[in-house]
Amino acid sequence: MGLLLDEEFAFANIREIVAKAAELGNFVRIDMEDIACTDSTIRLYRQMREEFPEHVGLVLQAYLRRTGADIEGLSDAAMNYRLCKGIYNEPRTAAWKNPDTINRSFVSALERMFKHKTYVGIATHDEGLVFESLELIDQYGLRPEEYEFQMLLGVDEELRQILVDAGHRMRVYVPYGASWMPYSRRRLRENPSIAKHALRQMLGMKRF
Ligand SMILES: Cc1cc2nc3c(=O)[nH]c(=O)nc-3n(C[C@H](O)[C@H](O)[C@H](O)COP(=O)(O)OP(=O)(O)OC[C@H]3O[C@@H](n4cnc5c(N)ncnc54)[C@H](O)[C@@H]3O)c2cc1C
Repeated sequence: MGLLLDEEFAFANIREIVAKAAELGNFVRIDMEDIACTDSTIRLYRQMREEFPEHVGLVLQAYLRRTGADIEGLSDAAMNYRLCKGIYNEPRTAAWKNPDTINRSFVSALERMFKHKTYVGIATHDEGLVFESLELIDQYGLRPEEYEFQMLLGVDEELRQILVDAGHRMRVYVPYGASWMPYSRRRLRENPSIAKHALRQMLGMKRF
């Protein structure tokens, strides 16, 4: 979209896509990249939300120390998020590094979102976090149409099915199109530990 080239240029490109989605009654979720993009992506979301409140959402990352403050900062209008742990290797000054702390931050951010009556796409394959999310869903008395789970295609299909069978909504993230190879290579460069996960999934080895 050109965000790192020129913010106005990127805004114009993304506005065109969100406007088309709105015209078709569809929805655009703006992914979150590394911390060089966090502020500008939030500005972009804020601007799109003003014009197309029902048709655009943002991703927030639980590993960022700022996420709680970002939720509060954006709570002056209806919000719609995907919450994930975050995939980039960020410096300690910006991000929690300990996996248990990241998980606590995930739960805390999710609760903050539910308190603000926010629609959340709960994006995780971590069964412990799925458990904590279900506890919060129960505690806040949410109906299935008030949240959804999200997982990557090919990752822990069994857990995916367990959630669907229990009546929860599930969205599956599917990379597609001619550039799938450069896209996948870029994801691997961003976080080489994915290769280990992917290999384990391909070999059918599970880790809980
Ligand atoms: C729908 C969706 C959209 C996302 N969008 C963004 C985004 O916009 N910005 C961003 O920074 N991050 C994004 N992510 C990635 C996210 O931040 C995490 O890095 C990723 O989901 C792994 O975290 P986890 O919660 O599944 O827990 P983890 O503890 O990392 O993983 C739990 C288990 O799931 C399996 N697993 C996890 N990831 C993979 C994989 N890629 N391949 C194979 N097995 C795997 C492994 O068995 C692992 O042990 C997205 C994730 C999902 C599901």
